[in-house]
Amino acid sequence: MKIHRDKLQIKTTREFDVIDITADVEKALLDSGIEEGYALVFSPHTTCAVLVNEKETGLLADVEATMQRLVPKLGSYLHDDFNVRTENLHHDETKNAHAHLRRVIAGHASEYVPVGEGALLLGRWQRIMFVEFDCARDREVLIQICGM
Ligand code: ZN
Repeated sequence: MKIHRDKLQIKTTREFDVIDITADVEKALLDSGIEEGYALVFSPHTTCAVLVNEKETGLLADVEATMQRLVPKLGSYLHDDFNVRTENLHHDETKNAHAHLRRVIAGHASEYVPVGEGALLLGRWQRIMFVEFDCARDREVLIQICGM
């Protein structure tokens, strides 16, 4: 068994920025030389998700609207109450509980995609997307291809 690791640098531009990273995962797979196994795509951020779904403009707008309805940006969140919160605070802390909660509802930190005959075995309409739920940031995605 072989393990190949890659890291993508991504600059998100806004809240609910959806970036199709399927081609980047395919490139990592090609670089790995692995024919059979799986690809793990992982976000090391608490307000971003890796999502395998259809990339269609209307659907993504529906997802964004649903998230806004389920988790309003301006709510009464303990994570955003800096008068009582004591954990994990840093100098440029922002009120972003809505981004964490939308991430909890919308997706996962990682997705596995099976690999066969040197290709990602995605369904016809599936794409691998990196989704930003917070504001524009420098982000990274880890890709690990395992197999032989
Ligand atoms: Zn936070």
